[in-house]
Amino acid sequence: MASVVLRRRGQLRVLRGHPWIYQADVEQTDGALGKGDLVDVYGTGRRFLGRGYINPDSQILVRLLTRDAEPINAAFFRRRIAAAMDYRQRLAIPSNAIRMVYAEADALPGLLLDCYGDIGVIQILTAGMERLRGVLLPVIQELIHPHGTYLRNDAPSRLLEGLTVEKEFVGTPFDPVVNIQEDDLYFQVNIATGQKTGFFLDQRANRLAVRPLAADRQVLDCFCYTGGFALHAAKAGAQRVEGIDNSAEAVAAATENAKRNHLSDRCAFRRGNAFDELRQLQGAGRRFDLIILDPPAFTKSKEALPGALRGYKEINLRAMKLLNTGGILVTSSCSYHLSEATFLQMLEDAATDAKIQCRILAIRTQAPDHPVLLSVPETKYLKCVFLERL
Ligand code: SAH
Repeated sequence: MASVVLRRRGQLRVLRGHPWIYQADVEQTDGALGKGDLVDVYGTGRRFLGRGYINPDSQILVRLLTRDAEPINAAFFRRRIAAAMDYRQRLAIPSNAIRMVYAEADALPGLLLDCYGDIGVIQILTAGMERLRGVLLPVIQELIHPHGTYLRNDAPSRLLEGLTVEKEFVGTPFDPVVNIQEDDLYFQVNIATGQKTGFFLDQRANRLAVRPLAADRQVLDCFCYTGGFALHAAKAGAQRVEGIDNSAEAVAAATENAKRNHLSDRCAFRRGNAFDELRQLQGAGRRFDLIILDPPAFTKSKEALPGALRGYKEINLRAMKLLNTGGILVTSSCSYHLSEATFLQMLEDAATDAKIQCRILAIRTQAPDHPVLLSVPETKYLKCVFLERL
């Protein structure tokens, strides 16, 4: 097996628990290093640090799979995936739509596995994991026993790994519209054309946390997608819920989901640009008691952060102005490059400009089936802050 020897700085990061090795961390390489090959990683004094896969085309040269000199085979994946499943089982998640494998956080870098009832949706994000696909897929079949499996290999980050973007059924094709349950609500999820792998599983716990705040309230759900937050609010007794999304498919699915949960009388979804809609609602003198803002990531890079921050501030400022006294803003950002501290600072700036005082009710993150590694900040990306207007 080929090997790489790390400089002190790279070794230090690995010893602190991080599984990534950058080009600049490498002192020396031995043997032919092909894209996706397995490699052994050594530190100073040829101390064995672990085994992973390499991609010379990627900024992240190696991702560690293990810190032992163990074979990367079916038994390895069986152990890793079984451990990931066991962890989710112990969480007693009130849904049958679960992220079963969350890449680095489950010691399986480059692999996502979402289970929607008895349907498995797999996303392979790296060349190394792609090379291991032949070993991996049968193990997933064996452990999950899915009724059907779909490969959502259309994440744009695959291009950075020199991979193609594609979507396909593994084995026999099936209806990609699946029914899931989250708490006492039913949702239709299109695993082939929906966003991400079909549903925003990471916001589950935050959707549930909104329920006790929703009874008798006038609710606005901006960036509502298929109605996640909106329907939980409606089910929990909101007087009226308006949902806005700029995707026609999302609005159609949200409307359909309201119907299947017998909540259509209280919910209305419409297509619109949230920035314009918030401005218009303000102009029309509208007020709400509960506003949810769950925009897509406004930046995927550090460089674009200033522009993204202006966007976040604009929607938060506008939403704050639409709140009644005692009203609650549930505001999220899934941009990894926007830290929680900067997000809170932006909210403070927005409140100052809106000339309002807010009390922080909760600072939350992604649902626990997307666990965060203490030593890998990249595994934490979601911020969700609950503010009350005083
Ligand atoms: N809250 C949702 C997930 C929201 S994902 C849930 O719990 O399921 C973000 C959504 O924002 C996507 O549905 C996307 O279509 C929508 N979107 C992106 N840009 C938008 C814009 N400018 N105005 C309105 N919606 C937008």
